[in-house]
Amino acid sequence: MLILILGDMMETVWTKDYQDFNLPKVKEETHTPILIIGGGIAGLMCAYNLRGENKKFILVDAKKLARGVSAYTTAQVSIAHDNLYEEIMKKHNKSKALEYYQSQLEGLNIIKDIIKKEKIDCDYKEESTIIHANLDKNLNTIINQYDLLHNNQNIKYVKSNSKPLDFRLGLEFPNQFIFNPVKYMNSIINILIKNNCQLYEESNVTKITKAGDSYEIMINDEYYIYADKIIMACHYPIKSPDNLFFAKIYQSKSFAVSFKTKLKINANYVNLDPPYYYLRTYDKDTLIIGGCDHFTGVSTNNKNYYDILVQKIYELDKDAKIEYKWFTEDCMPIDSLPYVGYFTCSNPNIILVTGFQKWGFTSSHIAAKNVINILNGVEGNYLFKTNRWTLFRDLKSTLRMIAHSIDSLLISKLNISKYDLNYIKIGSGKVMKYKGINSLVYRESKHKFIILKNKCTHMGCSLIWNDIDKVWESKCHGSIFDKYGKVIYGPATSDLEKIN
Ligand SMILES: Cc1cc2nc3c(=O)[nH]c(=O)nc-3n(C[C@H](O)[C@H](O)[C@H](O)COP(=O)(O)OP(=O)(O)OC[C@H]3O[C@@H](n4cnc5c(N)ncnc54)[C@H](O)[C@@H]3O)c2cc1C
Repeated sequence: MLILILGDMMETVWTKDYQDFNLPKVKEETHTPILIIGGGIAGLMCAYNLRGENKKFILVDAKKLARGVSAYTTAQVSIAHDNLYEEIMKKHNKSKALEYYQSQLEGLNIIKDIIKKEKIDCDYKEESTIIHANLDKNLNTIINQYDLLHNNQNIKYVKSNSKPLDFRLGLEFPNQFIFNPVKYMNSIINILIKNNCQLYEESNVTKITKAGDSYEIMINDEYYIYADKIIMACHYPIKSPDNLFFAKIYQSKSFAVSFKTKLKINANYVNLDPPYYYLRTYDKDTLIIGGCDHFTGVSTNNKNYYDILVQKIYELDKDAKIEYKWFTEDCMPIDSLPYVGYFTCSNPNIILVTGFQKWGFTSSHIAAKNVINILNGVEGNYLFKTNRWTLFRDLKSTLRMIAHSIDSLLISKLNISKYDLNYIKIGSGKVMKYKGINSLVYRESKHKFIILKNKCTHMGCSLIWNDIDKVWESKCHGSIFDKYGKVIYGPATSDLEKIN
């Protein structure tokens, strides 16, 4: 069993397919009509579409391309989106839920077409996705979603009363697929490279300044790129004082475990009952289970989350052999619809692409199509527009986010006690007062301590120690830092401050 965090890399089933493209860092000032920030699935698909339109652009990524959330996903490409259709019906209305369905169906077909057209070898395998449940509450969700979709989609009720996957009711969506996301993204990058697109790695956008109608974008705190338009596809939006995205989107952590097994499954399964989990095949004797989603920075009991998934695996096959464990996080808009459109009223030349809520493959492809429409002056998808009124569509989530913010900006800062460094276990971390400063202390060896300021570089929130993954997690917006304070996941763009 492996949980490896090497610097900012955690090993997964996909790691062996990473390709080194040897792309340059930004090392001089330059101008571009369009700058794409982010080389995950969203940024790459925007780049792919721009190349198709012969538009000039530059794409930058803070890390290597295709190593963000998209490389840690479980890569079911499906429109069977958990209970999302019901959520959209509740928070908006039935017609929005149907619009969402149409958009995802289109997204699914766009990826299928690209794989075919570009002859991409990405372990494509067509399968059904089956959403299933045993609890009454979730059976109702299945029934409500069937009622909404069955006129448009070839879906059917299914039941299973044989172990290991027995459930009272399921909904089968045929002709979905699974694939290898890293192989897919590698192929897209190779197409871009072949077409002489300007791609940069290890080029972190540290500041965006508006200059008239265009922008000065600072890279690695050193060089400027001047851009007329920006496509912000960096997963969580970069901070801007005049928007409230930090209050409209939260980050949810999700776990995955791959395991060797003799168990054969012939579809992707999504279990709606707690603990939420989903299951897909990887190869002939490997399955991946994912799930246990929850707000980042709320609980550090990750062992428990991995254990729940592992327990589930042993229920499925007591002889299974655990291979890799990993986690990542995704942006969850509180009103359950992605955001694709103008960043803010005063920044119409920045197009934001975010909020895929665990279903990033269909959403990113439809988002990239909408981005081109917006650039071409055609109104983007109304459903995903960024200036929609969201805060009170899900009062419970809004209040929870406000409570988190108050806790992490105020209460948990007042509550820090002194602690004897010697009581910290080697290889572990602790939030404590050190020399009167609210600090994060990691004990590397008997006499070596890494001491950082307990202040997230995104918006100043407090952090907590996650002892399984050995990382510091922000209590508010989902930033994650390694034990040395280096950013692993944004929205923070700079490392934690060291205390000497
Ligand atoms: C555990 C898990 C399982 C999932 N499973 C599925 C699934 O089965 N099917 C599905 O459809 N979806 C799934 N998703 C969702 C999907 O993986 C994501 O929605 C999608 O990958 C997000 O793509 P992205 O391009 O927005 O983000 P990323 O892939 O994270 O790309 C963003 C890029 O921006 C870069 N960046 C960030 N900040 C900066 C900056 N300041 N400057 C420069 N670059 C920057 C990052 O380095 C990164 O490379 C899953 C998500 C999780 C968490």
